[in-house]
Amino acid sequence: MARNLEPQCRQCRREGLKLYLKGDRCYTDKCGITRKASAPGQHGTSRRKLSEYGLQLREKQKVRRIYGVLEKQFSKYFDIAENMKGITGENLLQILERRLDNVVYRLGFASSRAQARQFVRHGHITVNGKKVNIPSYITDVGETIAVRAKSASEVEHFKALREGTGRAVVPWLQVDYEKLEGTLASLPSREDIDIEIQEHLIVELYSR
Ligand code: SF4
Repeated sequence: MARNLEPQCRQCRREGLKLYLKGDRCYTDKCGITRKASAPGQHGTSRRKLSEYGLQLREKQKVRRIYGVLEKQFSKYFDIAENMKGITGENLLQILERRLDNVVYRLGFASSRAQARQFVRHGHITVNGKKVNIPSYITDVGETIAVRAKSASEVEHFKALREGTGRAVVPWLQVDYEKLEGTLASLPSREDIDIEIQEHLIVELYSR
């Protein structure tokens, strides 16, 4: 399966901001961007004023990196978003939020989207009681996303989750840490997405 192999902290330095790709480490002073904020490469410290196209491209790359989506898939999501009712940019963000790996992360079952992706791929996650090992699976309202019973009782990470309260969960998800399961109470609205994204720049980029 194709994946972005660029080191995660390097991706943050490229975008010039914290993308929180490494989970708990991102909140410590070991964070790569805290230690070295300049862009990677020989000319990383030189400041360039970005063109309009450059700004649009950077915004798209930033969002792709946050959600861990490759170019081809991102472009497919854009096509779907464009054909949906409503505002294309908001539709695009909603699709990204509804990905199974993102939902597992938002439920607090993983400390990063990358870890959530791994949990899904390794068969630890079920949707409506059935194992789903496809991170890009798009979840829907009413679906229940849970940690598989065997994983919940055997994997230390999940056992510890039961004892803690987890993170604050987004309003469109309901979670039960005792059962290690959560439900999509509604679709995420734009206000529910707490990441600084200028989605209109991405729409402008694809409209060129
Ligand atoms: Fe980005 Fe810092 Fe996390 Fe590395 S540790 S992925 S630089 S936020």
